[in-house]
Amino acid sequence: MSSMINFTSFTRAFTLFCLVVFFYILVPESTDTLKQVLKFSILIGIIGILIFYNQLLKQSGLNSLVSDEKPKQSDEDSFAQSSDIANALYDNLKSLILSTATSVNSNVEPAIYIIDPKAQVYSLQGSTSDSFVDGVPVSNKIVQSILSGKNKIHQKDYPEAWNELFNASSWRGSECVIGSPINLHGSPAGFVLAKVNHFSDLTEKDSIVLKSLGNFISHGLVNLESLEKFVLGENSKSQILELISDLNYKSDETQILGQFKYLIRSFTNYDRLTVSLNWDAGNNATIKMVDGIKDKFDAETEFPTHGTLHGLPISNGETVQNRNWKETYQNLARFNSSEEDSKFQSVLGVPIMVDGTSIGSLFLERISENSYSKSDQNNIELIGRILGAALSWISEYEKIYKDATHDGLSGLLNHQTFKNRFSEEIQRAKRFQHNMAVLIFDLDKFKRINDTYGHVYGDYVIKTVSGIMSENVRTIDVVARYGGEEFAIILVNTTAEMGLVVAQRIVDNIANYEFSMDGEKVRMAISAGMSEYPTHSDNIKDLIEYADQSMYETKQNGGNGVIIYQKKETPKD
Ligand code: GH3
Ligand code: MG
Ligand code: MG
Repeated sequence: MSSMINFTSFTRAFTLFCLVVFFYILVPESTDTLKQVLKFSILIGIIGILIFYNQLLKQSGLNSLVSDEKPKQSDEDSFAQSSDIANALYDNLKSLILSTATSVNSNVEPAIYIIDPKAQVYSLQGSTSDSFVDGVPVSNKIVQSILSGKNKIHQKDYPEAWNELFNASSWRGSECVIGSPINLHGSPAGFVLAKVNHFSDLTEKDSIVLKSLGNFISHGLVNLESLEKFVLGENSKSQILELISDLNYKSDETQILGQFKYLIRSFTNYDRLTVSLNWDAGNNATIKMVDGIKDKFDAETEFPTHGTLHGLPISNGETVQNRNWKETYQNLARFNSSEEDSKFQSVLGVPIMVDGTSIGSLFLERISENSYSKSDQNNIELIGRILGAALSWISEYEKIYKDATHDGLSGLLNHQTFKNRFSEEIQRAKRFQHNMAVLIFDLDKFKRINDTYGHVYGDYVIKTVSGIMSENVRTIDVVARYGGEEFAIILVNTTAEMGLVVAQRIVDNIANYEFSMDGEKVRMAISAGMSEYPTHSDNIKDLIEYADQSMYETKQNGGNGVIIYQKKETPKD
């Protein structure tokens, strides 16, 4: 009951808040004082929402927010479950952030803080280490610097603020943090922080990744919030929540669409289901999934969003619900104007919404004139929203992940990710008793390229060589840019002897390639060295060192070749 009061007063306050925002938008630029007052009211409103939202996340009884009556036992179960799922989603989001940060740079200790406006502190939501305090005062200087856009702060510059942020320890002065704000509805709601013991352990990339992680968690909170909002009004949505909690944020679009297909099937019936997406708001959308009756408009077909039935929810963001669409929309084609008369009559098409914009359509079609009910419409509209949230969440995650794990210039794995993959591959090779070939490459006399033709030409050579590396290995192999013009490859389940063929092919392809940019033609050569797991060693450090030594041996022999490491005989006394 008390939650019900909370909820109605929240609704009233929220309506008032929306009115203030509305006026703020309409007030002319010249009335500055009024604008200031309204701005202040908006800020208070946002803090109110944050408090409410924080409570939502903590609270379990979501049920009582929508109903005055005491919940029935079965409802109680399903709502306890939905709240658990909301919490699980939030936990999932946090652990994704923390693990992404450490996978980019294993030297960082990341933490997530969210504001607790009542206590005037930022409270710790999660961390991989125990050096962070549970609550940091909102007045903390380091936090304020982070929120105002400064991203790197040294311990020695703010020793007092530092002690408010970390549990007691002796500091050397070399420690530093990088941070990124978390925003909710345009206002700071918290921050992501990463500490390193020595500032030299941080790279430019870490700051970029952390900034994306701050954005990602901001985005995730908004999605969580909208999921909760939509679930509140419906009693039987535990199915949807189950699906969402099952979503793996490392899965791809096709997997997600497949899962939603089963969900939609369980809600209503159709003769054909079509999901189309138009991420870039261009003129054409692409069909991404078809279930049921197939015709020439199958997956990967493009069609214009204007002048078509399936494009309607994309272009105007509205639902189409009609028992005989051809009669109602005489000027529209289903997918394109050259289509022969289709047999479908009753349709239900909803937009797939991301941040208030329609990025696609979800269409159910029936051959009969049996129309879709209002409750079908509500359910499918809700699914359209959740599908949008899931897709955008995943695409955001993919972007961050790619950025964090790949080298920007070559698109190959970066050094850190290579090492992580290497240790995974060693575990696998141990389990299956496989061999592995480890290759290190370094371009011969590369400096002269930069000196003679400039850095842009040098970058072009690195990119082209990266392409040659990837083309010559299987998709299961691991290719990385190990350093400036050094590359590393792991050929899984491969002996050094078999690997020699691959390495020689790469060396030859590079030697035979005519590099050409802006009319300048250049020839290059590369040196390679190789070691073998487990014959030469079973640890990463040695395997790399042996491959590296052999690569230098190749260089000493004039380059443009490959040498397999040979264990030096230890002289017997
Ligand atoms: P060696 O045959 O002994 O390998 O001679 P080298 O000239 O290739 O020598 P080294 O491997 O030491 O040279 C590496 C050079 O690569 C130095 C650096 O300026 C350049 N380099 C490193 N990263 C990049 C990059 O991203 N772009 C460009 N254009 N040059 C880079
Ligand atoms: Mg070199
Ligand atoms: Mg080098």
